[in-house]
Amino acid sequence: MHYIVYVSAAVKPFSKAALLELLNKARENNQRLGITGLLLYKDGDFIQLLEGERAKVEALFQTISADPRHGGTIVLVEGEADQRLFTDWSMGFRDLSDPEVRKTPGFSQFMNRPLSAESFADDPNGCLELLALFKPPI
Ligand code: FAD
Repeated sequence: MHYIVYVSAAVKPFSKAALLELLNKARENNQRLGITGLLLYKDGDFIQLLEGERAKVEALFQTISADPRHGGTIVLVEGEADQRLFTDWSMGFRDLSDPEVRKTPGFSQFMNRPLSAESFADDPNGCLELLALFKPPI
C-alpha cells in the first residue's frame, strides 16, 4: 500500500459549503479508486494523506496538484506501508480551527503549528503523528 502526505494552500479561503462540495466529490471518486485518507484544513492551509494502490495514489495526486483551488503543493512524506491508517474513510476531514477538534487528545503539541512544509521540515514524520491523532478507534 502506497501513501503520500502533502501540504498546500488554498488560493482563497474555503467556506464550509465549498469544503463540503470538495469532500463529496473526493469521497465519491476515492471510493471508486479504493483510496482512503484524511484531509485536514486550517486557516486556508491543507494537509492530506492519500493511501491505496501506488499507480492510483500517484495519478490522483497529480489531479489534485493541478486543481486551481489551491497551490504550493509540497510532498512531506511518501512511501509504502503494510496497512492503511484510515481503512474505512474514503476521505476523512477535520477543520483544525474547530474548538471541538482542538480538544482531540495529543493535539496540543500541534496547536500552534501551521500546516506548512516549514512546520514539518525538521521532522517530516511528525505529519504522520498529527494525522494519526484522528484515526478512529478500532
Ligand atoms: P469534476 O469535479 O467534474 O472537476 C473537473 C475540473 O474542474 C477539475 O479540474 C477540477 O479541479 C475543477 N473544479 C471542480 N470544482 C471546482 C471549483 N469549485 N472551482 C474551481 N475548479 C473546480 N479529488 C478526489 O477525487 N479525491 C481527493 O481526495 C481529493 N482531495 C482534494 C484535496 C484538495 C485540498 C483539493 C483542493 C482538491 C481535492 N480533490 C480531490 C479534487 C480534485 O482536485 C479534483 O477536483 C477532482 O478529483 C476532480 O474530480 P472529477 O474528475 O470528478 O471532475
